[in-house]
Amino acid sequence: MNIRHNIELQPYNSFRTKAVARLFAEPESGTELSGILRNFPQERKLILGAGYNIFFTKDFDGLIIRPAMKGITIVKETDRGVELEAAAAEEWDALVEYCVAKGYAGLENLSLIPGSVGASPVQNIGAYGTEVKDVITRVRAVDMETGEVRAFNGEACAFAYRDSIFKRTGRYLITSVTFALDKSFVYKEKYVDLSRELQGIASPTLMQVREAIIRIRTRKLPDPVKLPNAGSFFKNPVLSREETERLQVILPDLPVYNLGGERFKTSAAFLIEKAGYKGKRKGMVGVYEKHSLIIVNYGTENGEEISDFMKEIQQSVMQQFAVALQPEVWIY
Ligand SMILES: Cc1cc2nc3c(=O)[nH]c(=O)nc-3n(C[C@H](O)[C@H](O)[C@H](O)COP(=O)(O)OP(=O)(O)OC[C@H]3O[C@@H](n4cnc5c(N)ncnc54)[C@H](O)[C@@H]3O)c2cc1C
Repeated sequence: MNIRHNIELQPYNSFRTKAVARLFAEPESGTELSGILRNFPQERKLILGAGYNIFFTKDFDGLIIRPAMKGITIVKETDRGVELEAAAAEEWDALVEYCVAKGYAGLENLSLIPGSVGASPVQNIGAYGTEVKDVITRVRAVDMETGEVRAFNGEACAFAYRDSIFKRTGRYLITSVTFALDKSFVYKEKYVDLSRELQGIASPTLMQVREAIIRIRTRKLPDPVKLPNAGSFFKNPVLSREETERLQVILPDLPVYNLGGERFKTSAAFLIEKAGYKGKRKGMVGVYEKHSLIIVNYGTENGEEISDFMKEIQQSVMQQFAVALQPEVWIY
């Protein structure tokens, strides 16, 4: 069991903020993980994947566990599809690339999302009309409080928009995820931007869909290596009918998506832009000029500078539109 002490976390989070973890472990197997949990029962713990959705405002006085289990296995195969199990530390987009190259359909719309396989169910990653819950059949995890090994089916994961049981409880360390993928593929429009990018192609292949998404994302999103960021900083707010109608009076062009019943999702990026924050910079932090949902770091190592800027945006949107923006990013 390899436990390291006083580890600088700057290389382990895509915002590149500085903080020190008192204890740090990278278990490569379930057995190694169980040993760590047995040896540090009382220690405060935090699971870290590839660090694209998390940043630190202070040192972490506890144990950071960064799963290092690798491997992709076909667990079931028929003429129509495959069930494929991928270990937590596999890189997400490498898995998508592998599946697309093999002709397995289901993950292609989630191309180029940065991060690890193990983190994908936590916030039920989504893009271009697809959420990862659509193809997950099983999540294997270890309960960090009891050491028990558990398998969750799709229903037990309690997936919702950018949410799951794993996110709500924070107590399960995911060791692998199983996906059900199809061997046949017919492109169906789920997202207008994507169809526009594919215009002129009669029946797009899996690879053409992946390449189109990579082109759109590369144009639109800042590369975290060149301009540190954590992707969408806030969740899109879900409002009641009354709140939506009130807002449409002051913002007639407010984008609204009916989730069914009396719940309406609107665009956090739109509200941030209308609050005057698109492209706005304060010190070493700012809102990306091409995408108002993304906060970028122009050079600070201090996570508090980012969280202060986040609070300023939240207050401004609250004052102007009476909407509470919730962060999608984890802040420690
Ligand atoms: C440029 C950019 C674009 C992005 N685009 C999208 C997008 O289109 N859609 C989208 O949904 N997200 C997007 N994101 C967010 C991010 O890619 C996802 O949240 C991704 O799943 C993070 O993976 P990670 O391994 O880096 O997780 P981390 O940031 O390391 O961790 C995120 C959370 O998951 C927990 N966690 C990590 N691994 C495990 C595990 N094995 N078991 C249990 N808990 C774990 C952590 O404790 C933490 O709470 C984007 C981020 C960036 C920087």
